[in-house]
Amino acid sequence: MLTPPQVVTQLSLIRQLRFCAGHRLYRHESKCAFFHGHNYRVDVEVVAAAGSNEVDAVGRIVDFSLIKQRLLGWLDAHWDHAFLIFEDDTNALESICRVVPTKYFVMPWNPTAENMARYLLEVVAPGVLTDLGVMARQVAVWETEESCAVATCVGDPVSPSVPLGSAVIVDNR
Ligand SMILES: [Zn+2]
Repeated sequence: MLTPPQVVTQLSLIRQLRFCAGHRLYRHESKCAFFHGHNYRVDVEVVAAAGSNEVDAVGRIVDFSLIKQRLLGWLDAHWDHAFLIFEDDTNALESICRVVPTKYFVMPWNPTAENMARYLLEVVAPGVLTDLGVMARQVAVWETEESCAVATCVGDPVSPSVPLGSAVIVDNR
């Protein structure tokens, strides 16, 4: 009689988060160099930080509502209805500063879906999830219904390569 194969299980959660933002791609060779916006969708996959299948007394890695509260809370405060601008794009930065009221977020990298996913995985998630005992394993940023970029944690977690930023909001109304 054959021995059934052993199943190695890893539990994770996936939460969808949505926000609207504007950007442009610095040095893009075509229309993405113009200011424009997207209705973004983010899928974040979360695992227990211990790397195990540890669940609480209820059977959860973490409650979905806490992922929403922390990550959507951060997105609402910093990226939603903001322009994401690459720090080297001085022309866009000078322009966005003149608009009143204004909300923008200076990115250490060009704000492609790839770099946004990377920033959420490497910088934002560690900053807002750590005390929940969980970590983001993967972040997908959907720029349209057909296209997404994915950042995946491979190997051991390391400290974020850049500090966690904040939106600049000027609103004297
Ligand atoms: Zn775009």
